[in-house]
Amino acid sequence: MPEPPDWREFENLQKNAPLHIYYPLCGGGEECISACPFGDKIWTVKEMKVSMFGFKYAPRRRPVMAHPELCRRCNICVEACPTGALKPAGVEIKHPGFVLLYNTLKLPFKKRYGLKFVFREEHKEKFVRNNPKS
Ligand code: SF4
Repeated sequence: MPEPPDWREFENLQKNAPLHIYYPLCGGGEECISACPFGDKIWTVKEMKVSMFGFKYAPRRRPVMAHPELCRRCNICVEACPTGALKPAGVEIKHPGFVLLYNTLKLPFKKRYGLKFVFREEHKEKFVRNNPKS
C-alpha cells in the first residue's frame, strides 16, 4: 500500500483557505469539526504522515478543509481547538512548544470548549481512530 503524503503537502493545499492547521500540533480529536456549524460540509479527514506533539512521525488522520469556500470565518473551530494548532490564515505559529503549553494550561479554564468538551466520548474515539498504533 502506498505511504500517505507528508503533512507539508497539505500546507500547500491550505494556501488560500481562511484557516490554517499546523499539523504537528494537532491531536486528531476532531474538536474543530464537531464545533463547526457546517462541519460535515466544510471538513473532511485525510491520512498523512505527521508527528504528534513532537512524537513519532507516522501515518495519522487529520482534519482538512475540503470546502474552504463555505467557511463563514466565525472562528468557532479555532476556539474549540484544544492545542492551538488551528489558526486564522496569516497567524503564524512561531513557537509550537509554547503554543501547546499555553493552550493546555488554558483548557481547564475555558468555559465552552474546555476539558469536558475535549474528553467527550466522540472525541476520545476519534483520537484513537486517527492515531492508529503502527
Ligand atoms: S471558521 Fe466557522 S464556519 Fe469556518 S470552519 Fe471554523 S467553525 Fe466552520
